[in-house]
Amino acid sequence: MTEFTTEIYYDDDADESHLDGATVAVLGYGSQGHAHAQNLADSGVDVLVGLREESSSRAAAEADGLEVGTAAEVAARADVVSMLVPDTAQPAVYAEVEPHLEPGNVLQFAHGFNIHYNQIDPVEGVDVTMIAPKTPGHLLRRNYENDEGTPGLLAVYQDATGEAKARALAYAKAIGCTRAGVVETTFREETETDLFGEQAVLCGGIAELIKAGYETLVDAGYSPEMAYFECLNEMKLIVDLMYEGGVGAMYDSVSDTAEYGGLTRGREIIDDGVRENMDEVLAEVQNGEFARDWIAENGANRPVYTQLRQAEKDHEIEDVGARLRELFAWAEAETEDEDRTRVQAD
Ligand code: NAD
Ligand code: MG
Repeated sequence: MTEFTTEIYYDDDADESHLDGATVAVLGYGSQGHAHAQNLADSGVDVLVGLREESSSRAAAEADGLEVGTAAEVAARADVVSMLVPDTAQPAVYAEVEPHLEPGNVLQFAHGFNIHYNQIDPVEGVDVTMIAPKTPGHLLRRNYENDEGTPGLLAVYQDATGEAKARALAYAKAIGCTRAGVVETTFREETETDLFGEQAVLCGGIAELIKAGYETLVDAGYSPEMAYFECLNEMKLIVDLMYEGGVGAMYDSVSDTAEYGGLTRGREIIDDGVRENMDEVLAEVQNGEFARDWIAENGANRPVYTQLRQAEKDHEIEDVGARLRELFAWAEAETEDEDRTRVQAD
């Protein structure tokens, strides 16, 4: 087996006493915020939640038994400020809390965008760290409650106290990440690989691959329903196999015909031209062009984003999918009812 090229930290590598007596201000109560706040609180850490006066998340945080204030109010009382508002809102929220950061405090992130692309220039004297769970927040929370862990990434951008990494590991332990393993990286590596992955493979790549396959079949006269099943619905089954056992396990589970076809024709689809496009997309991530584009887009109230988002919703595959999923839901509900009847009859 190949050795891992990075350090991976587990519970035994993390000393939770670095958070003894500390107050953590969790800014934002969305996907990540609600999970970090509740996991930290259940691990015995004092937690405050920072939200705007008019935020609709206030009621949720209070219902979960947490004390809420504005970002500035809770940062003023905290030793650790965890920045979990949307990335595009972070520079403005940072400006509100910066006057309340004292030497020795920790400024903690779950994604490196604003630090790496200089949208936040943190004051000297504070530790600047990242613990980035590799799942959406609801899974981070669910895993914690089930005594399971969630893998995460750790990075240190500024080590003012000499203990930044140890303090980040204590935070990772408190939210349940060191139970599963925390991989050490840098703000640059996390940001650039995250952006590249979501653009080239995960979000952009897979959505365009599905739509291109769908359009090819429909344009050739096949039914939209068949095209939907082949190109979108079955994607989940294939990805689940790869997630569980790797690409090889996927190929082991499909027919020899599917395997031979995939091995020989896959490279005709994802050819050198696609790989060159990937290099270009990566270069735009690395040289900051994508970041400049996205920041300008936000500054202009998102005209391109809004238009492309609507076009995506209007694509025929969405309509076909919605109708078929409705049929599926009926079928699944009926099977469940039958199962229940059968169990009762036994
Ligand atoms: P989100 O959109 O789910 O939640 C944002 C929260 O911030 C909401 O509670 C919202 O009310 C609040 N908020 C919005 N604007 C605000 C403002 N101006 N001031 C104060 N509060 C404001 O965000 P998220 O997806 O949890 O992302 C938070 C951070 O976590 C980001 O840095 C993101 O990149 C990172 N991250 C997200 C995921 C994920 O799967 N969602 C995974 C890893 C890392
Ligand atoms: Mg990501």
